[in-house]
Amino acid sequence: MIMKKKIEDLLLKSTVKNNVELKNYSYTKTGGMADKLILVKTADELIKILNFAKETNEQVTILGNGSNVLISDKGIRGITIVTQEMKKIELLENNLVSCEAGVTLKELTDFLIEKELSGLEFACGIPGSIGGAIFMNAGAYGGEVKDVVATIETVTLSGEKKVYSNKDMKFAYRYSVVQETKDIITKVYFQLKEGVKTEILEKVTQLNKLRSDKQPLEYPSCGSVFKRPEGYFAGKLIQDAGLQGLTVGGAQVSKKHAGFMVNINNATCDDYKELIKQVQEKVLADSGVKLEPEVKIIGEE
Ligand SMILES: Cc1cc2nc3c(=O)[nH]c(=O)nc-3n(C[C@H](O)[C@H](O)[C@H](O)COP(=O)(O)OP(=O)(O)OC[C@H]3O[C@@H](n4cnc5c(N)ncnc54)[C@H](O)[C@@H]3O)c2cc1C
Repeated sequence: MIMKKKIEDLLLKSTVKNNVELKNYSYTKTGGMADKLILVKTADELIKILNFAKETNEQVTILGNGSNVLISDKGIRGITIVTQEMKKIELLENNLVSCEAGVTLKELTDFLIEKELSGLEFACGIPGSIGGAIFMNAGAYGGEVKDVVATIETVTLSGEKKVYSNKDMKFAYRYSVVQETKDIITKVYFQLKEGVKTEILEKVTQLNKLRSDKQPLEYPSCGSVFKRPEGYFAGKLIQDAGLQGLTVGGAQVSKKHAGFMVNINNATCDDYKELIKQVQEKVLADSGVKLEPEVKIIGEE
């Protein structure tokens, strides 16, 4: 009898789990089950997983910190790869820092404060991983990650290593080319500049306070649900349309920040999808502006 190939046998460091509740990997606390979830530890093991998936014809989905996704209630088929355990950060020469994809922006900020390196303070409160932040070209308070990125190491879905320069990434507002190519970010080199510890810390504290004053951080959410339409602010359009407090199931347009949708009572992904649709329709009718989701809806349709 031919034994069915097992991914567990190929991996020494990464953890493989079967039938995992994805709610625990999503900031909105929504989502069904993952058939197989792998907490990958190294780029080499990532390549083994991708080769395995190719041979067994399994679909692959990447998750970082889960702070910009709505995961389907039906879950994710095939293999879900989570980068959260790729955690190495290193200070190299000339204020260059290398950082693996699963490091969070908070962890990187803490490292940079310690090393007195400045340039990434704007991103200190974004709850994503470095991989997710590059994929999205995350930004806040006038900065975007593209401003401090030198080079990016990735692995293609067919298992080959590929390096991108900043320019190759075609960064734009909440966009990088890997959204098209589907390459998986494994390591990022950040070019920072020398700073003063107390000044960096003061900036970070001030920006974190701004966030907690304005954002409903006491509830699960995925941050701003919609992209900023040119010439407008999504939150203001939603507020002006009188939609704060609009609720579908357990998902609600935040009363504190209209750009956020919070999970107030066991919301499902379908609750979120319906709420997004209603807000889009009402804002279009009210202001003529079409809101485009920033959040990525992933998993089985
Ligand atoms: C309270 C709150 C506040 C927020 N504030 C901001 C803000 O100020 N600015 C902002 O820009 N965003 C903000 N966000 C959104 C979110 O934090 C960012 O988009 C973040 O960069 C997503 O990173 P992540 O690791 O959580 O990605 P995930 O949600 O895990 O994934 C997002 C997308 O990136 C892909 N991806 C993740 N890792 C990789 C990788 N290694 N290689 C290839 N693809 C990958 C996933 O497949 C998915 O399509 C906020 C979210 C919350 C909950």
